[in-house]
Amino acid sequence: MNEPLMSTYRRLPVTFARGDGVWLWDTDGKRYLDALAGIAVCGLGHAHPAIREALCEQAGRLIHASNLYRIAEQESLGQMLIELAAMERAFFGNSGAEANEAAIKLARLHAHQRGIKDPAILVTEGSFHGRTLATLSATGNRKVQAGFEPLVHGFVRVPYGDLDAVATAAVHRPNLVAVMVEPIQGEGGIQMPPDDYLPRLRSLCDEYGWLLILDEIQTGMGRTGRLFAHQHAGIVPDVMTLAKGLGNGLPIGACLARGAAAEVFGPGSHGSTFGGNPLVCRVAQTVVETLVGQHLIEHAGEMGLYLRERLHAALGDLDGVVEIRGRGLMLGIELARPCADLVEEALTAGLLINVTAERVIRLLPPLVLERPEADQLVDTLAGLVRRFLAEA
Ligand SMILES: *Cc1c(COP(=O)(O)O)cnc(C)c1O
Repeated sequence: MNEPLMSTYRRLPVTFARGDGVWLWDTDGKRYLDALAGIAVCGLGHAHPAIREALCEQAGRLIHASNLYRIAEQESLGQMLIELAAMERAFFGNSGAEANEAAIKLARLHAHQRGIKDPAILVTEGSFHGRTLATLSATGNRKVQAGFEPLVHGFVRVPYGDLDAVATAAVHRPNLVAVMVEPIQGEGGIQMPPDDYLPRLRSLCDEYGWLLILDEIQTGMGRTGRLFAHQHAGIVPDVMTLAKGLGNGLPIGACLARGAAAEVFGPGSHGSTFGGNPLVCRVAQTVVETLVGQHLIEHAGEMGLYLRERLHAALGDLDGVVEIRGRGLMLGIELARPCADLVEEALTAGLLINVTAERVIRLLPPLVLERPEADQLVDTLAGLVRRFLAEA
């Protein structure tokens, strides 16, 4: 058969026909427990009634008008997000990469407005910031960059979690204007920085006049047990990017800023045709209202603790299990050897998981996960991992 799609993904041999909460059904009617949520996208689970209602109602009223006009749904979503995040202004695009592009452009323009002609942004090894040219250049993974040279320059890279390296860069790179990091690295393998990492980055940014840009595209929207992961650290960034969980499946990205960073863009400096249209903003507002109103953020924190305890009990003592880590419903199980094969074995067993950084099983279930489903997740996964490790 002629293959109509560019092979940008190595797709698994399954097609989903419908979903409900944490469950998906394929075209043969087989049921799967979704412990991935479309990679941290469907926080409210599948076919959530509030989302369907908001989407249908708004689609029947107005989908698009253009950013040449005022958009009430965009203004009210922006207002809601800046209040919840202690930020001052919002820009909306259609994806995570676009949100990060906005943040990178903002940091550069901010520098140019202050007379810095060759600004650089500090980024980390193992990071993931997207697939556009600027965001893949910021990404700390050669596989994402290879073949797309020349890369966008203006990024200085240091190891993740390493504050001494940041302090050294501060001394040797007078053109640094911003730091851009994930509060927990997602694609990088659920890497947790030391507890003092974000607070001390905040202090260094204040000391050197840098913008602290947090990529909360995967960690945000309640996934870690706080609406934004940096809230665990008690700091506020200057710029924060969101996407994934913000639309529960509708494409939306946001770049929020405060202080001087909030005033950088003016008419003509950035834009998007689709960004922040009435439909996606109405749905995203419903996502935020549901997360907050139904206490799903606290629930994610509690379920995360429960899941981690159960995973520790089931797998913690196994030789091939290096570490079980993460926060809230963003969990990683690092094995001693590459385990990408587990994804297909889990699929056969009716469980959707992901493996990232070759050896890390990544769990990002919908925040509506309940205990019986968490138990089933652990039982199925533990069986698979035990068998996998025994094969070695
Ligand atoms: C997924 C992701 C992105 C890219 O988002 P897209 O919507 O795929 O462009 C950027 N940063 C992080 C941390 C992500 O997890």
